[in-house]
Amino acid sequence: VQTYSGKKVFVLGLAKSGYHAALLLQKLGAKVTVSDQKTLRDNPAAQTLKAAGVTVLTGPQTADQLTDDFDLMVKNPGIAYDVPLVQAALAKQLPIITEVELASEVNEGELVAVTGSNGKTTTTTMITKILNQERVQGRSAYAGNIGVPASEVAQEMTADDTLVLEVSSFMLLGTTTFHPHIAVLTNIFSNHLDYHKTRENYVNAKMRITANQTANDYFVVNFDAPEWRTLAQRSQAQIVPFSRQAVTTDGAYEQDGNLYFKGELVMAASDVRVPGTHNIENALAAIAVAKIEGRSNDAIRHVLTTFGGVRHRTQYVLTAAGRKYYNDSKATDMEATEMALNGFKEPVVLLAGGLDRGYEFDNLVPYFKAHVKAIVLFGETQQLLAKAAKAAGISTIAYAENAEAAVPIAYNLSAPGDVILLSPANASWDQYPNFEVRGDRFIEAVEALTGQKEEQ
Ligand code: ADP
Repeated sequence: VQTYSGKKVFVLGLAKSGYHAALLLQKLGAKVTVSDQKTLRDNPAAQTLKAAGVTVLTGPQTADQLTDDFDLMVKNPGIAYDVPLVQAALAKQLPIITEVELASEVNEGELVAVTGSNGKTTTTTMITKILNQERVQGRSAYAGNIGVPASEVAQEMTADDTLVLEVSSFMLLGTTTFHPHIAVLTNIFSNHLDYHKTRENYVNAKMRITANQTANDYFVVNFDAPEWRTLAQRSQAQIVPFSRQAVTTDGAYEQDGNLYFKGELVMAASDVRVPGTHNIENALAAIAVAKIEGRSNDAIRHVLTTFGGVRHRTQYVLTAAGRKYYNDSKATDMEATEMALNGFKEPVVLLAGGLDRGYEFDNLVPYFKAHVKAIVLFGETQQLLAKAAKAAGISTIAYAENAEAAVPIAYNLSAPGDVILLSPANASWDQYPNFEVRGDRFIEAVEALTGQKEEQ
C-alpha cells in the first residue's frame, strides 16, 4: 500500500464509492476534501464525513475548488473527463484514480476482476458463489460495480481471501497499479460511447484490466469475436479462452450441448439455470475461473444448476394466468435486450423504452420479428422503438406512461403461454433514478395485477 499519510486528496463526487473512498483515505491518514453537488442539508453522506473531520465542499463543482496543494484526485467513475474540474486536475498533472484502485491497494487477498459490456454482474456472482461453495482457504466476496463499495469490502480481506471485483470501463480508466491475478473480459459491445467518444478509447479502457498482469496471471477472454481474440494478444498473462462457437480446448467451451474445461466434461448446458445463450457464455467464464482456482465440477454444477439469476437481469418474477413475467430492467442497451429475447422460445409481450441517447433501434428488428408478438412502449424513445417495431411487422404497438403502467396493458395483449418481459433497451434516467427502481416498480405492478408475490 502506498502511503497516504499526510497526502492531500480531493474526492470528486460522493455517491457510494466517493463516500467509502473518503472514509478509507481518512483512516490511512490523508487530509481529505470532498466535492459534491448536493447541498449539505440533503446529503447525509456529506454530513457524516464532515463530522469525521473531512473538508466538504458542496454546490457547483467549479475548477476553482481545486486549489494548488492537492496530491491526488479520487474521481467518481461516472464523472466524465471533460468537466472543467477534471480538466483542471489534468492541467495540474494531478494523478486521477477511482475507488477500485484504492480498493486493490488495501486488498490483502487475491484479486479476481471482471469487466465487459454485458454479463459482468452475472459472471461476478457466479464466480463468487462457486468459490464459496467449496472453500479452499479463506472466503470470497464480490464488490465494485455490482453495487457493493469496493474499498469497504477490500479492507476486510485477509491473505487467504479472494476479492471478486466487478469493474466498469469508467472505473478502469482511473487505475494505475490495479493488478488482478485473474482478469475476465466477458465481451465488448459499443455501449458508453457517449462517455468514451470512440470505440478505441472504450476498448483501451477495458483492456486496462490486464495492463499490469504478468505471466503468473490469467486473462479469461471470450473468443467468440475476432476482435476480442486479437485483443487478448495484448495481455502478458496466460490466456484462457472461453467460447460457445469454437472448441477452445485450452479453456472453457460448449460442444454438442455440453460445457467442457480443457477437454473435461463439466456439465450439460441445459442444466445452467439462468435462461439464454448469453448466460451460457457467463457460465463458461465462471467455469474457467473456478477451474483455475482448483474448484471441483461438483461445486460448479451445484451453483450453476441452482443460481436463478441476479435481480433485474432477466430475473424470473412469477407465473400467473399462464403468463410468465420477467424483469430485465438492467437491459439498458440494445444488445442486452437482444440477448434477453433470444433466451425465450415463447411469444413475448415486450415492455421497452427509456432515455434517448440518439440511437436508432434498427438492430432490434430481427429480434422483434423472431420473438415479439406485441410491444408496450414508454419513455423518451417510444417513437424510435415504434419505428423498429413497425419495421419488424409487429401489429400491436401500445404506449404507456411508464414501465409500471405498461404492465396491465401488456397483460391485455397477452395470452396464456406468453412471456411478459420488461427489457427496456434503454437507460432509465428519463423517468427513474436508476434501473433498480424501474425494475422494482415493474415487479410491484406485476404483484398488484396478479395478486401474487415475486418468487425468490
Ligand atoms: P452487466 O453487469 O455487465 O451490466 P449483467 O450480468 O448485469 O451485466 O446483465 C445485464 C444484462 O445484459 C442482462 O439482463 C442480459 O440481458 C444481458 N447479458 C448478460 N450477460 C450477457 C452476455 N454474456 N452477453 C450479452 N448480453 C448479456
